[in-house]
Amino acid sequence: MRGSDEEERKRWRFQGNRPEIGEASANTLRGVYNRVMDSMNKEDPRPVIQLGQGDPSAFSCFRTDPAVESAIVGALESGQYNCYAPAVGILPARRAVAEYLNSGLPYKLSPGDVYLTVGCTQAIEVAITALACRPGANILLPRPGYPDYESAAAQRHVEVRHYDLQPEKGWAVDLKSLGDLADGNTVAIAVINPGNPCGNVFGYEQLKGIAEVARKLGILVIADEVYEQLTFGEEKRPFVPMGVFGSIVPVLTLGSLSKRWVVPGWRLGWIVVTDPNDVLRDFGMVETIKDCINICADPATLIQGAVPQILEKTNRHFYSNINKLLKRAADLCYDRFQDIPGLTCPTRADGAMSLMVKLNLSEFDGIEDDIDFCLKLSEEELVILIPGTAVGLKSWVRVTFAIDPWALGIGLHRIKAFCQRHASKYKAITRSRLSLYPQLNGIA
Ligand SMILES: *Cc1c(COP(=O)(O)O)cnc(C)c1O
Repeated sequence: MRGSDEEERKRWRFQGNRPEIGEASANTLRGVYNRVMDSMNKEDPRPVIQLGQGDPSAFSCFRTDPAVESAIVGALESGQYNCYAPAVGILPARRAVAEYLNSGLPYKLSPGDVYLTVGCTQAIEVAITALACRPGANILLPRPGYPDYESAAAQRHVEVRHYDLQPEKGWAVDLKSLGDLADGNTVAIAVINPGNPCGNVFGYEQLKGIAEVARKLGILVIADEVYEQLTFGEEKRPFVPMGVFGSIVPVLTLGSLSKRWVVPGWRLGWIVVTDPNDVLRDFGMVETIKDCINICADPATLIQGAVPQILEKTNRHFYSNINKLLKRAADLCYDRFQDIPGLTCPTRADGAMSLMVKLNLSEFDGIEDDIDFCLKLSEEELVILIPGTAVGLKSWVRVTFAIDPWALGIGLHRIKAFCQRHASKYKAITRSRLSLYPQLNGIA
């Protein structure tokens, strides 16, 4: 438009700038991620090391199983999946998801309990939309956590209350404080297991404890299990689905193909009513979920058509190989972070694709906070991390280790160089003096 032409300006009714949308978008993980990406020095010829996003699909070692790809080819060639699908999803795919999840449950889900969504992201939106029906509702979310929950709640005027994951206790939940956070308007608690961003895996007792608190409060559990089965800890702590406690408390289980099958771009997820006592049905919640599903977009029918083959035919070795790769990467991170100045990594990751690292800001010169750390790291070293502030924990950073181990090694090397370059001079001098005069240890 010819900007100065007043007459022309007056003609149009667009008011492009909606600050609240801008703010919501800037605060999503994507918003922060984009800022960190924009901070990169475009002249630097080195490859970018992407530790900001849980999407390893670009690396050949993480390529999905050939059986998964064949499932799509089969669905395509059958010519049966070019149609619109029912809003809830096509029956064979719903049945396949129910059967897949049934192997870990003490009761049986039916295809009617499963609703297919556009990735786990839309499952989160549906769950929160359904809960927002109660005016003044609030939900309990983990901190640090996954910011899509906060954005979805903000858009639907659902209040958020955070419960802390405790770094000094392997990111466990303090069950006592959970009860204190809730009030008469609390309607749900979300649990992400295996955990993003901490890489923690909750054991049977912890999950049961959460289920019992939820039952006492009369609220439901949203179990984000998008990383289900991606566990590889030393203790071989197995993944326990929250649905195991479905007869204690109703559970909405959320999942998708994105992480375990490494196909996040296929956008196929699910929300599953894991509620053998039909509590949610009796209160009309299931109808509400169906209504929500009815008014939103559906995952592509072609991908739905491939779901039964994907869930039944994926090679066991594919699963175990992905877990082996993730374990190698998680351990490499943990071990290397132990001797990078200014950083503390308190726990190994036992599952999922990321872990949290604490910044000891007083040990750096000229780094204001976690956002500043990530912007400068991106600018100087082309390594992308997510500032802890974006996931609810200031002065920490989130490191996604699900990349090729070779690239990860380079990334960790660059992080170390960056930290050494920015280490506080005072601290550095004291450290070198201390090595000369070991008897002074503990004084400075
Ligand atoms: C990646 C992720 C999602 C979103 O999954 P999509 O299937 O890609 O939409 C949801 N929750 C958590 C905790 C995630 O890490």
